[in-house]
Amino acid sequence: MIEGKCPKCGSRYRGWAMLNPRHQTCPRCGTALEITDGETVIEGYSPFTSPSIDVSPPPDKPIKREKKKQ
Ligand SMILES: [Zn+2]
Repeated sequence: MIEGKCPKCGSRYRGWAMLNPRHQTCPRCGTALEITDGETVIEGYSPFTSPSIDVSPPPDKPIKREKKKQ
């Protein structure tokens, strides 16, 4: 059985549904759950901690500013 625990508000959840990223977020506070199967602990998915939200520009595209000479 999969068990999930919210590190923020302490809520505990049980069920295989937590294998789905949609159910790896605490419904109370939106924090990613700490999910364990008894051996391994994985950090659940939360839209607030998703790396896809990273807004920093990619390093391979430097911003070039051209100087105009008159
Ligand atoms: Zn919570």
